[in-house]
Amino acid sequence: MKETHLSETNSSPGKMNLKKKRPLRVGFPRSLLYYKFHVLWTVFFETLGAEVVVSPLTNKEIKDISVKSAPDEDCFSTKLYFGHVMFLKDKVDYFFIPRFSSDHKTDISCPKFIGLAEVLRSMFPDLPPILMPYYSKAKDGHGNIRLIKIAFSLGFKFTKNPFRILYSFVKSFRKYKQYHDNLYISEEELKRWEKDEFVFNKEISPNNETPPFKIALVGHSYVLNDPYASLDIKKMLLADDIEIITSEQLPRSVIEHQMSKLDFNMYFRYEREILGTVMHFLENETVDGILQLIIFSCGPDSIGGEMASRFSRRMQNVPLLQITLDELTSEAGVRTRLEAFLDLIERRKKLKESELVCQ
Ligand code: SF4
Repeated sequence: MKETHLSETNSSPGKMNLKKKRPLRVGFPRSLLYYKFHVLWTVFFETLGAEVVVSPLTNKEIKDISVKSAPDEDCFSTKLYFGHVMFLKDKVDYFFIPRFSSDHKTDISCPKFIGLAEVLRSMFPDLPPILMPYYSKAKDGHGNIRLIKIAFSLGFKFTKNPFRILYSFVKSFRKYKQYHDNLYISEEELKRWEKDEFVFNKEISPNNETPPFKIALVGHSYVLNDPYASLDIKKMLLADDIEIITSEQLPRSVIEHQMSKLDFNMYFRYEREILGTVMHFLENETVDGILQLIIFSCGPDSIGGEMASRFSRRMQNVPLLQITLDELTSEAGVRTRLEAFLDLIERRKKLKESELVCQ
């Protein structure tokens, strides 16, 4: 049996009044930073002996709860977070909603990530206790010591054994690093992909004679990986045998190289990934089109989206389609825009080929 502070539930009626022990349940809303840190958090809490309960992928029920429970002025992604919290609230002993600001010395993430736990607690005081450690390298100079302190303050809620906490901490960071090493492709791999030497998506069946259309799909990880929030655009593209590369996959060195060309610091950490990917493909022209998913009323996206659109007016050889998503965006509308975009790409390709033949 797992060694934890165990909560107790009553045994079934009619039998001896034995008490059954179960591990404490920690709830992770499957939204926002979950998509960046789920490996780290899951391994940490499970190794401590807790039971991790994750809400399902966003669905209509969760979206409907979100719209009712979240403040109207929030961005669409934050609203969905509320829906995931409400879905889990009666199923867990704790919520884990870290107030994460930054793991970089200057760049920060969205301020919503810092305020969310407090907002939820003040709006819904009957929620289970929220574990909300705060971490910011940029604002407060936090580093490894702060991480270790957080690990111990969380860990002692689940075990009295400090060695187990230390072991969980080290193990979770190792797994987290492995996960990212697998997620990011190398520069070498990117170059080979750009030369059509292989495809990433096994779902598509490329024609051996002509390489498939290639689209760079850019957006926040919690949009790209949430089929409901993104209206399953990934699936629509794959169904058309279109090869996709995402902003999540791009080598960090490529992103940073593009960001160094800006005459100011784009200090929203995750927006760098989005804008850097757009800039790389506009400049290198190694995809047939770029599809940027923008979240309605997102502050960082309003900067990144505007800059991407300005760069695309200057470098017009790769078309850019920006789609804004919110709770009212219809799948039919998105599909129509996507089809028009793919038609445009096809016409441009044919025109290019005929120009080459004439030369
Ligand atoms: S970055 Fe944008 S989409 Fe994400 S939580 Fe902040 S405002 Fe919302």
